[in-house]
Amino acid sequence: RPGHAAAWSRLAPSPSPLLGVDLDAPAPTSRELLEKRQKSFARPQKNYYAEPPQIERGWKEHMFDVTGRAYLDMVNNVTILGHGHPRLARAAGRQWSLLNTNSRFHYAAVAEFSDRLASLAPDGLDTVFLVNSGSEAVDLALRLAWAHSGARNIISLLEAYHGWTVASDAVSTSIADNPQALETRPGWVHPVTAPNTYRGPFRGASSTADYVARVEAALEALDLVGEGLAGFICESVYGNAGGIPLPPGYLSEVYAKVRERGGVCIADEVQVGYGRLGHYFWGFEEQGVVPDIITIAKGMGNGQPLGAVITRREIADSLEKEGYFFSSAGGSPVSCVVGMTVLDIMRDEALQENARDTGDYLKSRLHALGQRFPLVGAVHGMGLYLGLEFIRDRETLEPATEETAAICDRLLDLGVIMQPTGDHLNVLKIKPPLCLSRESADFFADMLEKVLCEGW
Ligand code: PLP
Repeated sequence: RPGHAAAWSRLAPSPSPLLGVDLDAPAPTSRELLEKRQKSFARPQKNYYAEPPQIERGWKEHMFDVTGRAYLDMVNNVTILGHGHPRLARAAGRQWSLLNTNSRFHYAAVAEFSDRLASLAPDGLDTVFLVNSGSEAVDLALRLAWAHSGARNIISLLEAYHGWTVASDAVSTSIADNPQALETRPGWVHPVTAPNTYRGPFRGASSTADYVARVEAALEALDLVGEGLAGFICESVYGNAGGIPLPPGYLSEVYAKVRERGGVCIADEVQVGYGRLGHYFWGFEEQGVVPDIITIAKGMGNGQPLGAVITRREIADSLEKEGYFFSSAGGSPVSCVVGMTVLDIMRDEALQENARDTGDYLKSRLHALGQRFPLVGAVHGMGLYLGLEFIRDRETLEPATEETAAICDRLLDLGVIMQPTGDHLNVLKIKPPLCLSRESADFFADMLEKVLCEGW
């Protein structure tokens, strides 16, 4: 009979000195580790290098592999402070040694962190739920919309990504992430054309009304069948396509129409919020609107699993109609202390300001590349959330998918970690730690220039 002892006798030995057990054991080679990862680690790795560097440690915007080779980390939208921040390590370690426990208990950190998060949100959004990831935050936001409105239907944007859990995945219709997304989505999800002003049916800047009309058509379709609306969810900067700002006035018009129907407006700030845009702390500020529900995660924990939903008390209270909320580790003492320390460090090191200044500088260097190399179709985004789109033809905007993959491989050779994204895998989504220095921004632009000079 398999029992407790039997399971422990099967436990594989800790193979890596990094895991802290046998400091004298030889480190596995990259190839051995990759084989082990493929055998036992379930998550499929799309766009992953055939031979990824075996990362051992990080410092600020750099990561180092087991041979000591440095890489500039240009894709890490989670570690916003940078790697290896000693102040964060001290605060987390101290809290670990004091207390970390199930969030059902009463301790100061959860009250203090919730209070500080609410103070960052617009007036009226004063109630915070703490969870462990962006997907959980989006699921909870959808449940809140259902509970508050008494309806089920959600309008989302085509090509969006909001997470992998059942409900967040349902509103994610990015075919790059899930080729079956449109066929398999449940009936309560109503995707509408995303306001992508660069490519798509309403290419060009003056098309706000056309995009709003798509939302109106979805609302009218619901009216026709006599169904109510629970809410509308979108990123405040169109992230999946590489950080394209929404057309002016889009969110205020859509929010007004959604609210007229009794729906709630959800701003998914998991990727764009929390200072990354540099010019704004929240993405929705760029559109001059206030949502009813905000979802956040990623950078707020600098890699510690941490997410949150911020909403109005009346919406939060409506959840009782749908069930209840409980998360064992969401808002644990360590998560809350990490979350608060991240905010302190961001403030003390002026990281949002750095995202603005270094981001503006990097964007100007990338624009200059666009003048020289026809392959560079556009540079989207703001702050340290930039998207560089490679195309084969400036008229047709044919995506340069294979070229983008080859460019990323060359960048790795030159010490830059970067991966293709977007529905056509032709976009470099640039989202480094917010401590990115001017020198590192130059290094990235120089390396990109070098690769482009090699003959694209
Ligand atoms: N929402 C957006 C906009 C995201 O970009 C992501 C992740 O990439 C998520 C939600 C899901 O977050 P997580 O991976 O923490 O579950």
